[in-house]
Amino acid sequence: MDLREKRAVITGSNSGIGLGIAEELAKAGAEIILNSFTDRAEDHDLAKSFTERFGVKARYIQADLSSGAQARALVEQAGGCDILVNNAGIQHVAPIDEFPVETWDRIIAINMNSAFHTTAVALPGMRAKGWGRVVNIASAHGLTASPFKSAYVTAKHGVVGMTKTVGLETAGQGITCNAVCPGYVLTPLIEAQIPDQMKVHDMDRDTVIREVMLERQPSRQFVTTEQIGGTVVWLCSDYASQVTGTTISVDGGWTAL
Ligand code: NAD
Repeated sequence: MDLREKRAVITGSNSGIGLGIAEELAKAGAEIILNSFTDRAEDHDLAKSFTERFGVKARYIQADLSSGAQARALVEQAGGCDILVNNAGIQHVAPIDEFPVETWDRIIAINMNSAFHTTAVALPGMRAKGWGRVVNIASAHGLTASPFKSAYVTAKHGVVGMTKTVGLETAGQGITCNAVCPGYVLTPLIEAQIPDQMKVHDMDRDTVIREVMLERQPSRQFVTTEQIGGTVVWLCSDYASQVTGTTISVDGGWTAL
């Protein structure tokens, strides 16, 4: 896949899935714009490492995506983009009647509203070029629910709805908009929980992964960040130019249950 000449903005990409997506897009030759809310030397060094490792242009742009204005400014500062991956997301677990109002608002803002703002700013440039890819990283929780994750499930279902609408509004214009819906992905955040879970359950690593963490994922195997990145690269390819307004589940069978 040759994505040279394409600029990709990946929100929330200094760790986890976003970083994995950025790496796969860079391998395919795309210019990379990394983002998160922090502004540390290591964030900018991470962008430099992309140039060293993959020979692509890369920049880090700080933007706190809980703010609509900053989400819009991210795409503007990037100079527009050919590929927009809305990936930034946070989680909070609590019963709905005890869910902190501020946390609800923050999850809806980061996980859903930011995709509205970035997409709205990115689309005119894509239309002018007659080519564009919007990929929203939703979740199996964009298609199914779990108790105590009301804000997350609401936001992810909202993103799936937005994906369908943008797919329709851009159909036939060389632009596609799709949602990737991962099951459990082995990110550093999840990796860090494994030793504690092993202690609590008195189980070895494989058993805790299979029986505790991946209880809802029929394959009993984590999805990898490379597999999500590869799915995004495929969505950017000509093979997927008629795939739009839909969801691609990468979830080890979770949503087939
Ligand atoms: P992560 O915590 O490693 O990554 C989240 C990214 O979003 C980080 O780069 C973080 O800095 C960034 N971010 C958080 N708040 C931000 C803000 N206010 N402004 C800008 N950036 C912000 O988690 P992850 O697992 O890589 O999750 C990435 C996406 O994938 C999320 O949307 C998540 O809902 C989704 N997802 C994850 C899994 C999983 O199992 N890990 C499963 C399904 C969906």
